[in-house]
Amino acid sequence: MELLKQRILQDGRATEDDVLKVDSFLNHQMDISLLNEIGKEFRRRFAGEPVTKILTIEASGIGIAAIVAQHFGNVPVVFAKKTQSRNLDGALYTARVQSFTKGTVYDIQVSRKFLGPQDCVLILDDFLARGQALQGLLKIVKDSGAKLAGCGIVIEKGFQDGGRILRAQGVRVESLAIVSSISGGKITFAE
Ligand code: 5GP
Repeated sequence: MELLKQRILQDGRATEDDVLKVDSFLNHQMDISLLNEIGKEFRRRFAGEPVTKILTIEASGIGIAAIVAQHFGNVPVVFAKKTQSRNLDGALYTARVQSFTKGTVYDIQVSRKFLGPQDCVLILDDFLARGQALQGLLKIVKDSGAKLAGCGIVIEKGFQDGGRILRAQGVRVESLAIVSSISGGKITFAE
């Protein structure tokens, strides 16, 4: 997606530890016009899928999913929670995730009330690095018996192996920008 790539080149910052910072427009301050274009593009790519729910993970995924959902007929957005909370009552789907950015392990959970075999789920996230977050979300979709439409990713870091592993598993992964390297502070795209 050309508009997104131009924005990454203009406002993205590559740090030496392979982390791309896009907090001025995507995951801290959010550019809503850009997110609407992102929503249109995901809709175009997943047009044939009868999506009934969008599943993401807190925190950065939520705002993106909320805008994108409006391009899928206002389907509900469900976000996996990273912390135990008294608000999370009843039976849960859970998965263990290793955080790329924080280097920690945590459990994610989704209430069984909000996903089931009647659903067709589109998973969304801001970044794909080693694929741990997506693998956790995929486990939850599998456990729920829902059908998977695929995974929509705003920025995939193609130099890390998450995307390759997921596609080898037969998962449809649609990434709007695939970064092939961020070495020396210079951002390069795969195509
Ligand atoms: P993965 O589980 O694929 O290794 O990492 C994906 C998660 O880590 C995303 O949900 C995202 O929040 C975070 N992440 C991974 N790489 C980056 C990065 O380069 N920049 C930012 N801002 N977040 C990242």
